[in-house]
Amino acid sequence: MQLKDSVIIVTGGGQGLGRSMAEYLAGRGARLALIDLNQDRLDEAVDACKKAGGDARSYICNVADEAQVIDMVSQVATDFGAINGLINNAGILRDGLLIKSRDGEIQKMSLAQWQSVIDVNLTGVFLGTREVAAKMVELGSQGLIINISSISRAGNMGQSNYSAAKAGVAALTVTWAKELARYGIRVAGIAPGFIETDMTAGMKPEALEKMTSGIPLKRMGKPEEIAHSAAYLFENDYYTGRILELDGGIRL
Ligand code: NAD
Repeated sequence: MQLKDSVIIVTGGGQGLGRSMAEYLAGRGARLALIDLNQDRLDEAVDACKKAGGDARSYICNVADEAQVIDMVSQVATDFGAINGLINNAGILRDGLLIKSRDGEIQKMSLAQWQSVIDVNLTGVFLGTREVAAKMVELGSQGLIINISSISRAGNMGQSNYSAAKAGVAALTVTWAKELARYGIRVAGIAPGFIETDMTAGMKPEALEKMTSGIPLKRMGKPEEIAHSAAYLFENDYYTGRILELDGGIRL
């Protein structure tokens, strides 16, 4: 698949990995539909994509809201006339232990803490892929859907909600690769390790240092390194159903 003139939807495109992937793909001539919750951030990201050389538009949409996702996908198809790709990137963290015993009192992860992460990081991926795949088949277009998973898919302390969602996203990648191949739609995953974005900027410096020392390459990843891989996945027509691990070797 050629990136030039391809129409690609990026959720969570207002900042971090989403914005970086959008800018990189714009630099290769792609036309981007950026999805996020905050208009100011989206405006900046659209400008950055245009500066990089691609066309871009923004859409406010909560990926966990079925009606909003249906409307957004249909609006993108109307605005661009085609859809060739989707990057399911929007994600949140609400970390906490399942239970914590302190001074004889038991604290529990709340259902809201569990559900909010499942809604955005798992249900959001389901809704986006369902709507985009249906629209691509309706329009007769082919292409690629990328799901952003995480090394946490293997299970990570303090991340019951996030690990479950990211493992789910990896399993969905395989399921959809099998289901959608007949329509000329490939589905791939990227499981980043620790990448320099706002999501990791909130970590305590001691925790960050400890974590970095455990990475064989001894540094965090850069958003551009994830973006570069997303471009590779679009351009490699034989890649489907697999998760690309980009983690500096942390899980070796
Ligand atoms: P980020 O917090 O910098 O950006 C996430 C973006 O998603 C934000 O712009 C946010 O507004 C948007 N978003 C959140 N909820 C949304 C919703 N309901 N609807 C629409 N947009 C929403 O995070 P990031 O570091 O860029 O992470 C991007 C993706 O990569 C996430 O799925 C994350 O889990 C995954 N990831 C990140 C890392 C890392 O180290 N940064 C590692 C592994 C996986």
